[in-house]
Amino acid sequence: MAEIVNPWTLEQIKADPSLKRFMNKVRIWSNEWNLWWGKNSNGYTDNKLHAQIYTIEDALKKSGHCGPEKGIVYYPVHAIDDPEGFEKLGKVYAEVKAERIRQDELWGVQDHHPVEWLSILGEEFGEVSKAVCEAHFKGYESTGNWDNYRTELIQVAAVAVSMVECLDRNRDKGESK
Ligand SMILES: [Mg+2]
Repeated sequence: MAEIVNPWTLEQIKADPSLKRFMNKVRIWSNEWNLWWGKNSNGYTDNKLHAQIYTIEDALKKSGHCGPEKGIVYYPVHAIDDPEGFEKLGKVYAEVKAERIRQDELWGVQDHHPVEWLSILGEEFGEVSKAVCEAHFKGYESTGNWDNYRTELIQVAAVAVSMVECLDRNRDKGESK
C-alpha cells in the first residue's frame, strides 16, 4: 500500500523540531538496514506490521542519539494504520452508520436535490452550533458536558454520508439529483 503520509528524517527534525507537529505516533525506519525497528526495540523487521509504534517523543528518546549514517526516518502512523487508533476510529464510524440507519428508519430513503440537501446539512450544522454555544456559554463546559455537541456532530457526518449516497444513487440512474 502506498504511504499516505510524509516521512521525516531525524536530521530534518533536529534542524526543525516544529516538524513534530505532523507526528503523533510513528514507526522508525533504518536506511542503514532498510528495515523497520522491531517491537520492544528488539532488532529489526521487514514486516511493517511487526514494527514498533512509538509516540514521536519516545521515538526521539530511543533514536535521537543516532548519527546520519544510521539513516533514521520517522513514518507517521495514520489512525487507520494504527491498531489502537483504528479501534477508536471504527467506533466513530459505527456511530455514524447507526445514525444513518436511524435516519432511514425515521424518514425512509431520502432523495433531494443537492441544494435542498445543503439546507438540511446547514440545519444540522446549526444544531451543532447551538450545542457548542450551550456547552461553552451556559457553563456546561465546566462540568465537561459535550454530549449534545458530539451527538450533533455525528448527525452532521451522517447527513453528509446520506448526501453522497443520494448523489451516487441518482447519478447511477442518470438523474440530476
Ligand atoms: Mg441534529
